[in-house]
Amino acid sequence: MPALGALCRDGAFGPMRSVFPYNSAVAWASLSTGVNPGRHGIFDFLLPREGDYQLRVATREDRRAPALWNRASEAGARVGVINIPMTFPAEHVNGIMVSGMDAPGLDERAVHPVTYLETLRRSAPGYRIISNAAKEASRGAWDAAERELIDTLVARSSLVADLARPRDLDLLMVNLEATDGAHHFFWQHHDPTHPRHDPVLARRFGDTIARVYEATDRELARIIDAFSPDTVFVVSDHGGGPTNDWLLFLNDWLAAEGFLSLAQSGTPSVTRRLYGELRGRLPVSVRRSLRPLLGRAVDRARQSALYGDVDWSRSRAYAQMQAGVRLNLVGREPSGAVPPGDADAVLEELRARAQRLRLQEGEPAFEAVRRSEDVYVGDAPGGWDLILELTAGLHIRSRNTTSRRGFLHRLADTGMYLPSGVHTPVGMVAAAGTGVEPRGLVGETDIHQVAASVLAVLGVPAPALDGPPFGFVSAEWRPTDAEPATVQDRPTDFSEQEEAEVLERLRGLGYVD
Ligand SMILES: [Zn+2]
Repeated sequence: MPALGALCRDGAFGPMRSVFPYNSAVAWASLSTGVNPGRHGIFDFLLPREGDYQLRVATREDRRAPALWNRASEAGARVGVINIPMTFPAEHVNGIMVSGMDAPGLDERAVHPVTYLETLRRSAPGYRIISNAAKEASRGAWDAAERELIDTLVARSSLVADLARPRDLDLLMVNLEATDGAHHFFWQHHDPTHPRHDPVLARRFGDTIARVYEATDRELARIIDAFSPDTVFVVSDHGGGPTNDWLLFLNDWLAAEGFLSLAQSGTPSVTRRLYGELRGRLPVSVRRSLRPLLGRAVDRARQSALYGDVDWSRSRAYAQMQAGVRLNLVGREPSGAVPPGDADAVLEELRARAQRLRLQEGEPAFEAVRRSEDVYVGDAPGGWDLILELTAGLHIRSRNTTSRRGFLHRLADTGMYLPSGVHTPVGMVAAAGTGVEPRGLVGETDIHQVAASVLAVLGVPAPALDGPPFGFVSAEWRPTDAEPATVQDRPTDFSEQEEAEVLERLRGLGYVD
């Protein structure tokens, strides 16, 4: 990987810690704003909907803090921001923005200025918001999945190289994405100890992750050649690692522990069972084609599979999508059952139970169980009360719709497909050029340091963020009290079809039930 190698040789590089729950929505929001979820408000891909127990897709309109491009733009810098998650609808920056994976499709709302959409379609006809590799991998079409990852990468970097060539941008930021998909879908072929490893397939696809890294390095070189930037930062929003193919249904565990109460016990309803079968056994492509036919019926079944049969008056806690738990708090939840005065005791009881939960091999299910206030700082609504850090590689789901009894299963026993690689808490940073000291390998850094580092190198002032510039950044930090006026904070107006499109994408990556 000569391009990345040159940055490491000439500059500084090392591990960089992400932020719980280590997914792209949250981590990119932290990376872009320099503040933690307690301040930027993006706690997950999905956020609680006002007034009921359902969830809605989060977008950048839920982001309560300015991103580094807002600050740079406001200071008069010309910016190009391409495919960064949590940038839909595209913002009116001074320059060009193409939205990332929270955009339902490549249309006028996902591109700024709108006139750039034509240029984009002409100069990068294969451009996609996100690759279709999840769909191909879920039906075992490994060749197609690998091709899809690399083709999407090349189309995106072609666009970025075109955008960079006039060299009239002060800041160019792009999410190349392909390495993430390579981890998710190809870990089982790369790792001989993975429960789904097949030596025959490994002969062809054991090196896909390496090939995708090499392709990414080639495209990085192409962008650097076109742009000839003074300074380059290469960052990942999290790391990657294998699944252990244990699957924990968190709300079913809460029910088993007596924190969540179901209105009718015993066998799941016919709709739920049918929906579970559909979810588990049909490939994504078939589910997608069935969607217009089933439409609202599927939505209703999904909702009832999640929360439809909960007796909220007797439920003290519930889980959403990630391994976090919210109390059913009086005054905050629509049918709260835990008075604020009891919150502390319920959380401590829940924490003790979570710490005792073991996988069948005797391993703890959670590496750490923390109170939200020990992880996040700030008063943004929508987060969890208790954070359960999963043991490495454990799959998590909200409710068990497989019609199998119990809350902990081997993935293979459920008939479900989930990716064989998951995110891990530590990713990487490498940087070189003006404003970066050539320190070589450095110790662990934090994702909240990226924004301050880039702003320092650009010479753009900003107020104190949650992370100072990296220690290897020599460019001077310029403090200010002024905040850009461009930040909104409200749910995006999605059509049902648009929201379904984003949800299907998140399902393919294994984030959403
Ligand atoms: Zn990912």
